[in-house]
Amino acid sequence: MIKHTKIGVTIGPASADKTIMAELVKAGMNFARLNFSHGTYDEYTALIAKLRETEAASGEPLAILQDLQGPKMRLGTIPSEGVEIKTGSEAVLAIGQTEYQAERIPVSYRGLEVFLKIGERILIDDGHLELKITAINGAEVTATVVEGGKLSSHKGLNFPDSTFLAIPALSEKDKADVKFGVQNGVDFVSLSFTKRAQDILDLRFLIKSYEEELGIVRESPIQVVGKIERYEAVDNLQEILDVADAIMVARGDLGLEMPEAELPLIQKRIIDAANLAAKPVIVATQMLDSMQHNRRPTRAEVTDVANAVIDHADALLLTNETAMGEHPVLTVETMREIIVATEKSTYDDLPIPAALKSGTSVDIAITQASRLLAEEVKAKLILAASLSGETGRRISQVRPNLPILVATHSERVQRQLNLSWGVEAFLLPECRTIEELVERSVSYLKQHKIAKTGDKMIIVAGEPVGQAGNVNLVEVREIK
Ligand code: PEP
Repeated sequence: MIKHTKIGVTIGPASADKTIMAELVKAGMNFARLNFSHGTYDEYTALIAKLRETEAASGEPLAILQDLQGPKMRLGTIPSEGVEIKTGSEAVLAIGQTEYQAERIPVSYRGLEVFLKIGERILIDDGHLELKITAINGAEVTATVVEGGKLSSHKGLNFPDSTFLAIPALSEKDKADVKFGVQNGVDFVSLSFTKRAQDILDLRFLIKSYEEELGIVRESPIQVVGKIERYEAVDNLQEILDVADAIMVARGDLGLEMPEAELPLIQKRIIDAANLAAKPVIVATQMLDSMQHNRRPTRAEVTDVANAVIDHADALLLTNETAMGEHPVLTVETMREIIVATEKSTYDDLPIPAALKSGTSVDIAITQASRLLAEEVKAKLILAASLSGETGRRISQVRPNLPILVATHSERVQRQLNLSWGVEAFLLPECRTIEELVERSVSYLKQHKIAKTGDKMIIVAGEPVGQAGNVNLVEVREIK
């Protein structure tokens, strides 16, 4: 049974082993996420090498997504026994400090105080602790402890009431990390705490500058993913979508930065907007959280995964489950089973457009027609060629209920299409004519037992082959 919705796997200590990586691919991993909030360059270099070897051995494309920390605020170093702060007491934060000293709680982001105001909330450690600011004296911020608890080193901080638009999107650490990502040929870079379109443009510019500096010439660019986890990003969703290549509903932080009751609807809104823009959208975090320790997910988690498929996410991302959990492979297998069971239903289907709206552009008309035709003639697959991946993403947008086979000659594009719902990209030398594309693709399809003589396929193409702007033909062919 084919799986249309893609699976992302966060790699961490629980999944750093090559044998496990191979099992993860078999279980359904389509892309691997490396979280640059933790780890050293030596560790990432080794992980990337292992992922590329796993990909080569499996013969399946496997994309690598480098997830930048972005301006994530964290506590500094706290004594190893932890520091207890009591509900109702007063706490003092020392902004720009790295160590706990004289009962001052260190916050490592220098200059943060200028963005804070009295009355705003500070959440610590996934929102388990909550403070309310009562005074700001230079770099010393005093707050009432609304919800107490134990502090430990480097726990994350969230500021749901503060405005961070003026904080630079990329820290010095992020910039060095981007250079590392460019050098090591990652396929995607995602930016945590994206706030607006300019953040994405800055990251894209930085990637280009490093490519120039390092003399790296690649036919297809690294793609940029905007992580939606601040309220500013929700407000600026459309402008971010206009410039990003894909987006992520990063529910871990988003659930703290926004009222959590709004999260399900925000998820739906973000997915709808991304679907409309034909940009891949990833739903992330706590999807099968209890499987970190248990062999069975909760009923609520199973339903959450199914509902994300029904919402029309392109990809679902496992985080702690596969980075630190006890059952990384079983978790991916479980996610795959839920996806396949849900996709068999009609709940995740998009209605077939009854008619094209007047004024529809040629490429949209063509991709919609490809789905109509495919379902009408009971085709086995849709075949397209794509230099940049754009035609693949456009066909994916109309959610045809059959495999979308996309021929490309770029390895990176092949990997990047692993984020798009229903697309199975394969490598083919550049073809100039449609006949050449069909002939070569058919031998690939037969060789890989994807289709056989007598099967019908829908071709979406134009000449010269592979360029999104040229697509003007949709045709039914019987495989000879
Ligand atoms: C998230 O917040 O959901 C997320 C994926 O980002 P991170 O794990 O970097 O906090």
